[in-house]
Amino acid sequence: MPVDYEGVLLLMYVYGCGAVRLRTAVACGTTICVAYPLAEAWAGLPPDALQARTLFIVTTNVIGMVTAWILDQEARGNFLVARQLRGMAHVDFLTGLPNRRDFSERIEAAWKQASAERRPLAIALVDVDWFKAYNDRYGHPAGDRVLRAVAQVLARHASGSGDLVARLGGEEFVCVWYGATAGAARAAADAIHADIAALGVPHAGSDAGRLTLSIGLHVVVPRPDQSRADALYQADQALYAAKAAGRNTTVLGRADGEGDPAPAGRGAAAGGMYEREPGGVS
Ligand code: GH3
Ligand code: MG
Ligand code: MG
Repeated sequence: MPVDYEGVLLLMYVYGCGAVRLRTAVACGTTICVAYPLAEAWAGLPPDALQARTLFIVTTNVIGMVTAWILDQEARGNFLVARQLRGMAHVDFLTGLPNRRDFSERIEAAWKQASAERRPLAIALVDVDWFKAYNDRYGHPAGDRVLRAVAQVLARHASGSGDLVARLGGEEFVCVWYGATAGAARAAADAIHADIAALGVPHAGSDAGRLTLSIGLHVVVPRPDQSRADALYQADQALYAAKAAGRNTTVLGRADGEGDPAPAGRGAAAGGMYEREPGGVS
């Protein structure tokens, strides 16, 4: 090439356009800074020319390595921000529980696994009773505190391996107990009612005089040909029945799958109410 310092130009292209990773940049830069002067000295380059060329080569490599470091820092920052945003997209801001989007993804996986293992899934749709009246009487910030307290109770009761809990929106939540029989799921629902009662949150607009929940429960051993939307619809219908039965109660919906007991307690009252088209929860 009819130019001096063609090596310098080459290095500028490599560092500038090659997006070299930091480790590679340091390894190559250091090797060049040591090997180049030695090679030129061995080839017999005069000392003043050797000094000038070495200065350029070393300076170019140092600039290249600093550039690689800056790009590396920026890439790490972008990666962390992207990961944080991905996480936030799956979390409910108010309660810290997984949100509806997260639940939709996880229930699909749980459904497939339960279907493959022939294990039951107990799905509980949970809705705070008379919550509009609570907000109206005690204020929206107090309502928010109630939602956080309810979320904590639910999270405590759906913490087993394979269990799911999420805030579906508003004052509606969902718990899924993996592998739970109808009896075990009903016991868990009863424990949730007891823990909400133990919170002792006064609610003058409710018949009970305190904060209560209604729970629609559906237990199913999923089959591959079966839609999970249908199971959620059954739980939704059971919740509807729990509201109709006076609230502050759990209704166990239509039994589905091997080994499930027949509808029990107030759940039997739900029998004639499964007439709406599926839709409430997806
Ligand atoms: P029911 O017993 O039949 O469930 O009656 P409800 O009053 O609980 O149900 P409704 O659907 O009439 O009212 C739900 C209320 O939930 C209305 C809305 O203001 C309130 N809400 C929804 N999201 C939030 C929230 O993030 N924070 C607060 N404080 N209130 C919320
Ligand atoms: Mg409600
Ligand atoms: Mg509701």
